[in-house]
Amino acid sequence: MALSDNFRKVTPYVPGEQPKIRNIIKLNTNENPYPPAPGVQKALADLKDDFAELRKYPAPNCDLLEEAIGKYYGISRENLFVGVGSDDVLSMAFLTFFGSDKPVLFPDITYSFYDVWAEVYRIPYKQIPLDENFEIHAEDYRMENGGIVIANPNAPTGVAKSRDWMEAFLKEHRDTVVIVDEAYVDFGGESCLSLIDQFDNLLVVQTFSKSRALAGLRIGMAFGCKELIRYLKDVKFSVNSYTMNMPSLLLGAASIEDDAYFRSRVDQIIATRERVKLQLKSLGFEIPDSKTNFLFVSHPKKHAEEIFAALREEGIIVRHFKKPRIDNYLRISIGTDEEMDRLVNAMAKIIQNA
Ligand SMILES: *Cc1c(COP(=O)(O)O)cnc(C)c1O
Repeated sequence: MALSDNFRKVTPYVPGEQPKIRNIIKLNTNENPYPPAPGVQKALADLKDDFAELRKYPAPNCDLLEEAIGKYYGISRENLFVGVGSDDVLSMAFLTFFGSDKPVLFPDITYSFYDVWAEVYRIPYKQIPLDENFEIHAEDYRMENGGIVIANPNAPTGVAKSRDWMEAFLKEHRDTVVIVDEAYVDFGGESCLSLIDQFDNLLVVQTFSKSRALAGLRIGMAFGCKELIRYLKDVKFSVNSYTMNMPSLLLGAASIEDDAYFRSRVDQIIATRERVKLQLKSLGFEIPDSKTNFLFVSHPKKHAEEIFAALREEGIIVRHFKKPRIDNYLRISIGTDEEMDRLVNAMAKIIQNA
């Protein structure tokens, strides 16, 4: 018998690269191109004076951060769970709610971590194909299941469903937990947060990583009915009580306090996205409507992989997924206006030679 016979074996999720090259335009991981709220910088500076506080364990119930988030969204802490980025929140939710031997359902083209968590936790799952326009159809989900995960807006396509559509969908699925991953909802999507009172099986997951420009801090959260949140916390406290570190709790709370800054940056990113979408369309790109901080593009005359390589030559990094059905697409994060101007110019040059 080999030593590794008893090991848990998985194929890990591969995050977008974080190149060390300077002056590169990095449009490959949907980071926010703008800095976090100024209040975060101030809280970080204040931390220096409290540096000795680091010898203590952080607040296990994440009081400061939970109170700030609860106040902002107008919900009680009993309906709120925070974690180390929404990846941690989603992973805990998979572990907590998907204990059935029936398959958990999610689209074939979606966030590519879902099947990884299902594999690592030994959760059976079934991927339901999106249609050729990357749309979800409710009738495809009418089967026995152990839960459902919908990214809304979806990644990497950017396509969103309305709240009304989600509500009708939830009405069909009251017996298993439905996770709605709203990582990009602040960029123009419609949140299901207001539906948590109506559906005791709905878990809405959001993150500070994209719209709040805090991917480096790792803060995510889930909203759900009291009972769901209690189960989620029980599992979390059975794995690791102190997931959220003290600086994250402080800085995260500072970030949520500055709503004017948050809204102006989000509006700026949306405006840039819409402008760049039109410019790329006029170069012949095909792009589904996006409610996120990225565009999912393909060109009838040049393969995505060639465009990817040509952009790299120009110092611009985007994301290409070597996966069935989407290998002729590129996912381009929305950067600053200057960065996007350089992208559009590079694209014009690349397409001219196609
Ligand atoms: C970015 C992303 C996440 C994870 O973000 P965190 O940084 O872990 O909060 C989750 N779901 C989707 C669809 C994402 O794109």
